[in-house]
Amino acid sequence: MAKYNGPVCKLCRREGEKLFLKGARCFSAKCAFDRRGYAPGQHGKSSQFSKKRESDYQRQLRAKQKARRMYGVLERQFHRYYVASSRRRGLTGLNMLQMLEARLDNVIFRLGFAASRAEARLLVTHGHFSVNGRRTDIPSMILEAGDNVSVREGSLKREYFKSLVDMAESHNVPAWLSRDLKGLSGTMLRAPERSEIDGNLAEQSIVEYYSR
Ligand code: SF4
Repeated sequence: MAKYNGPVCKLCRREGEKLFLKGARCFSAKCAFDRRGYAPGQHGKSSQFSKKRESDYQRQLRAKQKARRMYGVLERQFHRYYVASSRRRGLTGLNMLQMLEARLDNVIFRLGFAASRAEARLLVTHGHFSVNGRRTDIPSMILEAGDNVSVREGSLKREYFKSLVDMAESHNVPAWLSRDLKGLSGTMLRAPERSEIDGNLAEQSIVEYYSR
């Protein structure tokens, strides 16, 4: 399972906005984007003042990179999502976002059981979660309506999961998921609607990028 191992905060600076990739740190004074809100690299600071018009390709590329980085997906897999989405009925861009939202690591993050998608991914690979009662260590697993995610019984005695109820309580769960906080489990009720997914994502530009 390949994953990005480079500096995470640079990704936010590159995209020119906070992608909230590091959990609590993103809301603290330590956030690198709040301290240095310009692109990384030698010319990063000057490029933000550049008046050069963005080409269509640049716009499409940035839209794709932003979504990929937000969900923590590498290029090859992201392209696979595009191919699978284009074969489904309906709008390719929306299908793609729905697939990304239905990833197990994202669902755990949305349920408030992890502070970030990266943390959710780690918890899954360490085998702390079950899907429909079966242990899984695949964070990219795509869930379907009716699938249930729960913390495994053996993991409940760990300090992290003992304090999770308090931590998750303040986290708002989207309407397409239901959560049983005491049982540390959740169910995917349906696919999310577009209005329930991050409005900042330009899925049409992503589709344009791949269909060039
Ligand atoms: Fe992005 Fe979070 Fe790093 Fe801030 S702390 S730059 S929001 S990953």
